[in-house]
Amino acid sequence: MHPELEAQLLHCRTLPTPPAVALRIIELAQDPMADLNATARVIGTDPALSARMLRVANSPLYAGRRRVENLGQALTLLGLNATLSLALGFSLAQGLRGAAGTASDQEQIWRRSVLAALAARLLGGHARLKRLEDLMLAGLLQDIGALALLQAMPDAYGPVRAAATDSTDLLARERAAFGADHAEIGAWLARHWQLPGYLADAIGASESDAPADPFQACVAASGAVAGLWLDDRQTADQRELARARVQACIADGTTLDDLLVQLAAALPEMGAMFDVHISRPEHLASIADHAKELLILRNLREIQDAARARTEARASEDQVRRLTEQSRRDPLTGVYNRLQMEEVLEREFATAVALQQPLSIAFIDLDDFKHINDRYGHLVGDRVLYQFAQNLQRLLRSTDLVARYGGEEFLVVLSHSNEASAARVLRRILEETARVPMAEVDGKPLYVTFSAGLATHGTTRQFADARSLLQAADDALYGAKREGRNRVSQHGQ
Ligand code: GH3
Ligand code: MG
Ligand code: MG
Repeated sequence: MHPELEAQLLHCRTLPTPPAVALRIIELAQDPMADLNATARVIGTDPALSARMLRVANSPLYAGRRRVENLGQALTLLGLNATLSLALGFSLAQGLRGAAGTASDQEQIWRRSVLAALAARLLGGHARLKRLEDLMLAGLLQDIGALALLQAMPDAYGPVRAAATDSTDLLARERAAFGADHAEIGAWLARHWQLPGYLADAIGASESDAPADPFQACVAASGAVAGLWLDDRQTADQRELARARVQACIADGTTLDDLLVQLAAALPEMGAMFDVHISRPEHLASIADHAKELLILRNLREIQDAARARTEARASEDQVRRLTEQSRRDPLTGVYNRLQMEEVLEREFATAVALQQPLSIAFIDLDDFKHINDRYGHLVGDRVLYQFAQNLQRLLRSTDLVARYGGEEFLVVLSHSNEASAARVLRRILEETARVPMAEVDGKPLYVTFSAGLATHGTTRQFADARSLLQAADDALYGAKREGRNRVSQHGQ
């Protein structure tokens, strides 16, 4: 890039700088020893960023089986790389706003960026690329060069943008005025900020017709697609550019029109994640109409085949989902089974350690259950187990977890609960259990009691791993039985 322009950008005090959180995330991204715990600590320092990560984890892009309620769960769900990419994107998006007098140009650039981020992700999916979050980040940051120009030289750059007739024309005008276009400037800025190399490269190639690899091809296509969406003039050249770039990066038969329709569907979610309002442009209706027309014109048989394949795929996906869910649950009571609970507990334990939050677990064993079986029969025993599990779930918070650990023994995981609050919860359940019959035999109510062993990983006591915590709860349960049953006993007390 032109040394003169470089100097001008560097000496401009308003040149956007990455916010502190972004800088720490960049460091983490470049640290081979970084892990989710370190990342959670950094993200946890920024409440807005934490909230966004939660929103992403609960969005349809990632939606898991159960609602993600805390940062630790969100990050575990997303994984380290996705977390770093998304967090960097969010924190930069936050930090790069605000030069006075350029609000409408800035807004326009951000809209294009958010749309491009989404388009890049969709394109990457069709191209079967793995690093979808990295793609989203590259899509989002491809226009930081334009933001930098706008902040460093608003008086010179504003008119250049206003005069440009389309994206190709804008690039030519930028080169004429500054000796470099916004893609080159963006790449330079990314290197200057020491963003990961792949990002600087993708930003540099974002307006190129000869991208070096499929990743860069998706980023280049994403900008063209976003530009087409936002420009209501929609020239034939622009459309052709977007079409050619889309075809260059995906080969699964998805067309530009398909992509625009998918973009429309995913957009509200995306806009909300980045707090950018992107209304549906007026010409979207015509895009959708055009897409529908194309579908109708396509070979009817092809459509039928595709529809059938889709239905079958969906049915088998449903079945896999059902079977997976089934394999996690205990068939008699419907609560989690032991295998699933052990997995969940490992995860919750790691989260508690990472975020330095307390975690309590309780083993609950029904008292003299053999006697119930012996006296009323196994069917009644089964009914009692079912009813007891239902009551447990009803009495716990939705974030707590219940599993049938075996026979008449249940395990409850109370995340964020310290010794005192966990004991309170368990005693309340004990009282409630004494009041509510679990079954009716010959018109008479049948009551049960239980013994519970409670163990807490927290400030008073730390455990090395989930297994030791389980052992402690089991010891406490044994104590409760020994002391006469129908009670809650706490490990270490
Ligand atoms: P304690 O108070 O010491 O826990 O006495 P207990 O009788 O509850 O304990 P024990 O472990 O001796 O007996 C557990 C009983 O639970 C024995 C077993 O038949 C019964 N059981 C285990 N699984 C099931 C089941 O799925 N259905 C029924 N009906 N009973 C079960
Ligand atoms: Mg028992
Ligand atoms: Mg038992």
